[in-house]
Amino acid sequence: MRHPSVWMVSSVLTFMLVGCTTNEQAEPKEPTTQTPSNEDQPVVQPNDSESNPNMEEPDASQEEPVTEEPATTDEPVDEQPPTTLEPAPEPEPAPSEEPTDKAAPEAEGKIANLDLGTLVLVNKQIALPENYKPSDLVPAQIDFVSTASGERKMMRAEAARAIEALMLGAKADGMDLKGTSAFRSYAYQVQLFNAYVARDGKEQAMKYSAQPGHSEHQSGLAIDVSSASVNYQLTQSLGQTTEGKWLADHAHEYGFIIRYPRQFEAETGYMYEPWHLRYIGIEHAAKVRAANEPLDRYLEEYMK
Ligand SMILES: [Zn+2]
Repeated sequence: MRHPSVWMVSSVLTFMLVGCTTNEQAEPKEPTTQTPSNEDQPVVQPNDSESNPNMEEPDASQEEPVTEEPATTDEPVDEQPPTTLEPAPEPEPAPSEEPTDKAAPEAEGKIANLDLGTLVLVNKQIALPENYKPSDLVPAQIDFVSTASGERKMMRAEAARAIEALMLGAKADGMDLKGTSAFRSYAYQVQLFNAYVARDGKEQAMKYSAQPGHSEHQSGLAIDVSSASVNYQLTQSLGQTTEGKWLADHAHEYGFIIRYPRQFEAETGYMYEPWHLRYIGIEHAAKVRAANEPLDRYLEEYMK
């Protein structure tokens, strides 16, 4: 019995000594250490609290899988493997910059003119207000990939009706298309963009993903679609499929344009995205197609 007591006493003393020493030494360094540890905790949640629901959706993760072509995805290939997405991305611990808003940097403070309605211009220089969310979002009644859910299946009413008509027309022509991601909140885009930056670095991420506020998906007027022939992934090879060609030839009939054509990559700053449809109304979609110029330039001239 005594032995244990003695042993315990010395253990306690030892513990105390060690503890004191440790604490003293540690305090100073703590700051440094903490940062790193955060990274380990990958869970995305840090960024958006609300997004938990969204996170399930794979936007982020998808990309990895999808990848036939490097940076294809403007957003995330929602459709695919939902599982992976979130995990990897979260870690972003944004080192230096500010947490959420950082994204804005590139933009030079230009705010989108919402008075333009369905012609609102959102690009790398012009952003939607952080708190902007269309008041007329409604579910688009079309087939979506299984990983799409909630708000991501919604669009502004006029655009929702248009994509429904487009899908009916596509189906009538034998096309097999599904929506993968429509509306995206600012908060969701924050997660997504940060995840991409963590994975590929900011410079690369900028080529295929919009910074928060700069995504057309936040406008409720954009939707990503893909076909069974490419396993509903957001890949540039969609453009070579029957469905991709159909979209290029007929989207304008329903008021949509392929927003980021290959020939205007340098001008828009985005890689070719045959899956990203932007609604601007039938009249303007036909004009943009006929003019063969990016929406940015078309609107610049239209506004004069
Ligand atoms: Zn898109």
